[in-house]
Amino acid sequence: MRVLDETDARTLHSYIIDLYKSFIPVKAIPPDMGGEGELERAKVLEDELRRLGLRVWRVDARDERARGGIRPNILAQLEGADTSRTLWIVAHMDTVPEGDRSLWRYEPYSVTVEDDYVYGRGVEDNGQAIVVAFAVAKYLVERGVKPRVNLGIALVSDEETGSRYGLQYLLSQNVFGTPESNWFLVPDAGSPDGSKVIVAEKHILWFKIRVVGMQAHASTPHEGINAHRLGMMFNLELDRILHTRFTRYDPIFEPPVSTFEPTRKEENVSNINTIPGVDTVYWDARILPSYSIDEVVETVKSTAYSFASSHGIKVEVEIVARDDAGEPTSPDHPFTRAFLRAIREARNVEPKLLGIGGGTIARYLRKKGYPALVWMTCEETAHKPNERARLSSILADVDTVLYYLLHVA
Ligand SMILES: [Zn+2]
Repeated sequence: MRVLDETDARTLHSYIIDLYKSFIPVKAIPPDMGGEGELERAKVLEDELRRLGLRVWRVDARDERARGGIRPNILAQLEGADTSRTLWIVAHMDTVPEGDRSLWRYEPYSVTVEDDYVYGRGVEDNGQAIVVAFAVAKYLVERGVKPRVNLGIALVSDEETGSRYGLQYLLSQNVFGTPESNWFLVPDAGSPDGSKVIVAEKHILWFKIRVVGMQAHASTPHEGINAHRLGMMFNLELDRILHTRFTRYDPIFEPPVSTFEPTRKEENVSNINTIPGVDTVYWDARILPSYSIDEVVETVKSTAYSFASSHGIKVEVEIVARDDAGEPTSPDHPFTRAFLRAIREARNVEPKLLGIGGGTIARYLRKKGYPALVWMTCEETAHKPNERARLSSILADVDTVLYYLLHVA
């Protein structure tokens, strides 16, 4: 630890456990996943931010399906020496449901501490970001030390189901100021040693391929056109073309190439003795940001067109979802350089810059030109049974962020 001494660490250790116990039992499952939303949890967290003495304000989005008719978003700020610049820590309040209860060793909503671990739904995703941000603020307030720049905390709703009522809503309301002076840390993915820093994501494209032939009795195939066979031929052809045309390699990404995967398949006919007239397959593509999504869409469409005309059938292409990744956060951006230095000096590990297949909420920030680093120290147990977070890792993250704020920002 570079900033926290033993007494600080002990105080924050019990603060973090108490904080977890105050909000994890208050469920915050989004309406799209059958829950009531984030309002009750938001009240608990907002009260605590006020108790810590931060300036707090709310920018809620309306959503009639949720409790109170809103999806709450909380912003809080603590003044730094240079009040023109802000380091924002973004944490999402919503969590996915616990899933199959029988797979959990402990009650998912009653925070259980066992040795160095805290167990519960949401303790990592994204409760860890919440407790790190709050512990950083508590240290600064109680020690009466000014960070070099403002500390901003943004607690958002709706991360798990698209962020329309959360971060995307905040960005549409322009709450953050300019990208030159507002930089973002998103602790929502990482690695067990704290070395992994995610600076880029791939474009995401989902599309549907519908091959239309002609249905017939399976004993008289000459009277029909077997859409299943043609679908297999077409999808394999498309697979080959996508993988030979989009071959760029970027070692920052994991995996370092664009990926194109046929995934879901709709049922065609329910009996064995019918030649199917329709064949429907879905694809998931994660595209390196140096390509545009349109280039891929055009390739899919032109491949479909030529296959359809040479076989005398119809091949329909439907875009199900597309999400642009935005520009990667540059390794040379002063925020990236300074934060990497904080990791190096506070943690004694060599940070590794990385791109992933997506998607975190950092992509919405990058699309608006804000530098955004996704980082935390975790074992990636999000959405799994027995989700857990490690107290020593949380304290190490608190120490790293404080080191950044007090020494290198
Ligand atoms: Zn998350």
